[in-house]
Amino acid sequence: MVHPDELSMLQEVVSVCHRLSEKDMVSATDGNVSVRTKTGTFYTTRSSVPKGDVTVNDILEVDRTGKPVGGIGKPSTELKMHLFIYEQRPDVNAIVHAHPAFATAFAAAGQAIDKPVLPEVLVMMGKIPLAEYATPSTDEVPESIRPFVQEHNAMLLANHGAVTYGTTLQQAYLTMEKLEHTARITLYARLLGGERPLSQRQIEDLMAVSEKSYGKKIYLDVNNGEKTDALYSETDIYEILKRVLQRLENK
Ligand SMILES: [Zn+2]
Repeated sequence: MVHPDELSMLQEVVSVCHRLSEKDMVSATDGNVSVRTKTGTFYTTRSSVPKGDVTVNDILEVDRTGKPVGGIGKPSTELKMHLFIYEQRPDVNAIVHAHPAFATAFAAAGQAIDKPVLPEVLVMMGKIPLAEYATPSTDEVPESIRPFVQEHNAMLLANHGAVTYGTTLQQAYLTMEKLEHTARITLYARLLGGERPLSQRQIEDLMAVSEKSYGKKIYLDVNNGEKTDALYSETDIYEILKRVLQRLENK
């Protein structure tokens, strides 16, 4: 007998799978969804099931090593990536992996979505990095996302798709939806002559209000994952220092 809390968790996974399918963010049997349970195991979608057809019977329970402990069938092919994110990020309780067309187009073109263009996207996701290509389902996939996993909740997987995660499944799903929408807008902006990034001053103003207004700090450092603990990249810091010095000189 499934506990009511667990049943509602399973139903939430099912509902997110259906939304991914309805919103065209997966095709055929693409994508996978998982959540962390209170006992430290994980519910994950079974492999080879179209996300639009997923039922609670298509969700398996696995332990932290990926060994199935409940349910029938084989776990999703990208389980290693999910487990790696859960291991690295104790704050993360849900992960969505999908192949949405616009985001995956950027991933296929080898382009991160890392220009600071839309304020609400910067607040929600920061810049969206591109993890190097890795053969799907192998240990290469966790390694490819290692440089970004701590500071980003959304990333593109080169020549593959995208992964998003959060403290709740709703948050992980909405981040995927937002990522896809951002990719679409970025592509349209390029057709219209190219996106116009916010200025450093506009970013600073946004940073100043984001913690107060949205309760979130903005991480803008992607730098190909070289830095892991700074809000600003070296170039950002140099630019800010330069401007501070200029302002002091003008006084
Ligand atoms: Zn995939």
